[in-house]
Amino acid sequence: MMIIVRYGELGLKGKNRRMFEELLAKNIERKLKRYGYSSHTKILRGRIFVYASEETAPLIAKCPGVVSVSPAKEMDYGEISDYLSQALKDFRPASFKVETQRIDKEFPRTSQEINEEVGEFVVREFGWKVNLKNPELIIGIEIINHKAYVFFERFPGIGGLPVGSAGKLVALISGGIDSPVAAYLMMRRGAEIIAVHFRHSEREEEKVRKIIRALEEYTPREIELKVIDHFSILERYVKKLREIGKERWICVFCKYRMLKIAEKIARERNALGIVTGDSLGQVASQTLENLYIESRATKYPIYRPLIGMDKIEIEKIARDIGTYDIFLSYPEEKCPFKPRYVVTKGDWEKFQEILKKVES
Ligand code: ATP
Ligand code: MG
Repeated sequence: MMIIVRYGELGLKGKNRRMFEELLAKNIERKLKRYGYSSHTKILRGRIFVYASEETAPLIAKCPGVVSVSPAKEMDYGEISDYLSQALKDFRPASFKVETQRIDKEFPRTSQEINEEVGEFVVREFGWKVNLKNPELIIGIEIINHKAYVFFERFPGIGGLPVGSAGKLVALISGGIDSPVAAYLMMRRGAEIIAVHFRHSEREEEKVRKIIRALEEYTPREIELKVIDHFSILERYVKKLREIGKERWICVFCKYRMLKIAEKIARERNALGIVTGDSLGQVASQTLENLYIESRATKYPIYRPLIGMDKIEIEKIARDIGTYDIFLSYPEEKCPFKPRYVVTKGDWEKFQEILKKVES
């Protein structure tokens, strides 16, 4: 068995196409190796052929850049009927159709001719009904370089672009629902991420490590996680803010500090920006005013892929990628520094004044 991997957008990348294909093929090999599967790949006419065990198909489908995968059998055209009479003998579909794609235009039969020829064979052999509109079973055939590839399944991939094709980002990962989704969305567009977590507690860190494991299902390599002791950083600010009666500003200061530290890591690691899970208005503190102040912590671009998304949309993605269940499996921990009332419409001038006092 082997696995046919189809990819979409890569084709649009003009002269970079070859580079993207090679990166995707490498990513697949690397990822399978990490999960204990040996494989080798071949790039052929807009497809990647992965020679590996059939059970790797779901792992491959989760590689960013992959549009769909089909475990397939490679054979000569003349061998198709023998193969089908064996492979399909235990199937009892209510209906079927044959769907051929002839990528090899020099092949002496057209797709339509192949559909008819193979379809007629199946009718003769098994007596199944043909249904072109809504068949229960689709017998897929692809003709590539004079070889036939036969398959019965097509698993959807996650789309996007291969990880590593877009450079590196520092992703701020809390134990919440949003930030893992934000990191995932950027990874799916080809970014490699370095995760940074500001630690509140052991449990929270454990949860974040599990979240990272889940995100690693989408990357060729393991994700590096930097854990930073949040308290030792915030303590001083919180103390000062309380002293001057400005504790309502704690959350804005907290984010501002996080972004400063993220920037430092980004610089050290040659990352090109920072990703957060902010979503406009989702909590009282995620206002445009506060985001304006927080964004001024750094000259690095801050990517907020969830900014315009609703909670329900975000949760759906979190469920799909498996981070939602991890979130639910831990009790929610309230931030011990969070004041009863938080500034919701922070003013930049005022923030700067307070910052001066706090840092003096
Ligand atoms: P999330 O669901 O990601 O926790 P949230 O809706 O709770 O987000 P905030 O608490 O306002 O939002 O945090 C906004 C963003 O700041 C988060 O999405 C995350 O990127 C970052 N962030 C917040 N807390 C932490 C933390 N402890 N460590 C790392 N990043 C954090
Ligand atoms: Mg949170």
